[in-house]
Amino acid sequence: MAKYIFVTGGVTSSLGKGIIAASLAKLLQSRGLKVTIQKFDPYINVDPGTLNPYEHGECYVTDDGAETDLDLGHYERFLNIPTSQANNVTTGRIYQTVINKEREGEYLGKTVQVVPHITDEIKRRMLLLGQNGDYDIVITEIGGTVGDIESLPFVEAVRQIQWELPEEDCLVVHLTLIPYLKAAQELKTKPTQHSVRMLSQEGVHPDIIVCRTEHPLTDELKRKVALFCNVKPGAVIEAMDASTIYEVPLKMLQEGLDIITLKQLHINGYAAPDLTKWRGFLSKLNSPKTKIKIGLIGKYIELQDAYKSILESFIHAGAMNQCKVQIVNVHSEFITEENVAEKFKDLDGLLVAPGFGSRGVEGKISSVKYARENNMPFFGICLGMQMAVIEYARNVIGWKDAHSTEMNTATPYPVIALMDEQKKIRKKGGTMRLGAYACEIVEGSLAHKIYGSTMISERHRHRWEFNNAYLGDFENAGLIPSGKNPEKGLVEIVELKNHPFFIGVQYHPELKSTVENPHPLFVNFVNAAKSYAEWKVGQPAEKLQKQAI
Ligand code: GLN
Repeated sequence: MAKYIFVTGGVTSSLGKGIIAASLAKLLQSRGLKVTIQKFDPYINVDPGTLNPYEHGECYVTDDGAETDLDLGHYERFLNIPTSQANNVTTGRIYQTVINKEREGEYLGKTVQVVPHITDEIKRRMLLLGQNGDYDIVITEIGGTVGDIESLPFVEAVRQIQWELPEEDCLVVHLTLIPYLKAAQELKTKPTQHSVRMLSQEGVHPDIIVCRTEHPLTDELKRKVALFCNVKPGAVIEAMDASTIYEVPLKMLQEGLDIITLKQLHINGYAAPDLTKWRGFLSKLNSPKTKIKIGLIGKYIELQDAYKSILESFIHAGAMNQCKVQIVNVHSEFITEENVAEKFKDLDGLLVAPGFGSRGVEGKISSVKYARENNMPFFGICLGMQMAVIEYARNVIGWKDAHSTEMNTATPYPVIALMDEQKKIRKKGGTMRLGAYACEIVEGSLAHKIYGSTMISERHRHRWEFNNAYLGDFENAGLIPSGKNPEKGLVEIVELKNHPFFIGVQYHPELKSTVENPHPLFVNFVNAAKSYAEWKVGQPAEKLQKQAI
């Protein structure tokens, strides 16, 4: 049987519960324990797949095709082990299960209620991953902030689990904020006291309090928090703002979060933490030798969470290359044929981002054209790959009206079209091509050089697809389909022969990049951008300008 750690949050949202949970998991893992993390989200959507990125940031997809919260991305990037549908549960999913059971008559005439039926289902799912011996510890992050109406059943489920399990098998970590009042020049503990009181009123008492703060906490202040919030003196942990999220595990190690956790869970005989790889990554990250600028062409750039995994993948790949990757966000809606050269003149590579719908697609197409014509490293992901195909059809083959039927159903050249199996689908939730699929890579291609393998597996999230009716035309015109799904022949990778680095992928490589395994596509793209940046230095400004025009 596993032991369970619950992570709740108070005072305000965006304190970084996911990062604290992932950091604690990393430390426990580094001491030889088998750990997984799951997230329980209090909203009513069955999963975040139907949410606009502006609402909820990126939708993270697991190998088994679950559309999940972006915190699962952090869990995978930190722990270097895959998560699954079981690792992300929403109120919607809980209710859906209970209501389906009720319709099947499983409650035998009983009145179905929040307590015990909803809370029983929450508990069942909270304990699930710990029951088959795969893990020593299951960490559960409870989304939202204590005091929210929506999170009440989750907190109640934690209360019941705390009551049911032996004391040493269950632990609650509460993350709060210690604000600094500039006028008073003081750190304030009152919001933390209130937040712990609120949690206690809901029946759950925290064992450890982690305090987010912009200034160091004195021992005296920590003692005050411990006394007023009724936790052991060593159980108040300072979480100072860090320069990168990847420093947080080391800060938590310094603060002893793992030791106090192990002590309270009565786990003895643990190993010293082995963080060699992690520290190696950080030291490379903190000592870049070069710097490049990558244009991120997207339509959700106002909200950085919308491209979370892409941004993190660049951090991993940058460290691997000992290169600082500066991301320049470029709003695709405002890119035109006329201004593209000016906008991109300082960049060393372009990443055209995933997306849905027609807003900003013409700007993405102009961006691809610029990268193709100027030998600038290009990396297209999902919609970005589709835009590369459309650009090639329009400007190289000469099919001016070529498009994706997602944006124009009447195009005479539907080079990107809906997959047959998608045509009958009406429901939006969970119905895309989702999760891991195999891809066979052509030997000798750029993709082959990058992956060093002819068979890979990557995660997908899309409905539209390269239209194989035009495959021959594209091949004759020089666009190489260098990766295909072996069962269905769907084109997964396209690249160009006479270009230093031009690659579009239908899948989402950013979902598989981790600290310990940076994704080879990102690593090679950053490397290509480095070469481009070096090449640029030797070029006279007028030449670059002319080339751009
Ligand atoms: N909108 C495109 C499709 O559904 C691309 C999706 C994406 O970029 N994730 O096929």
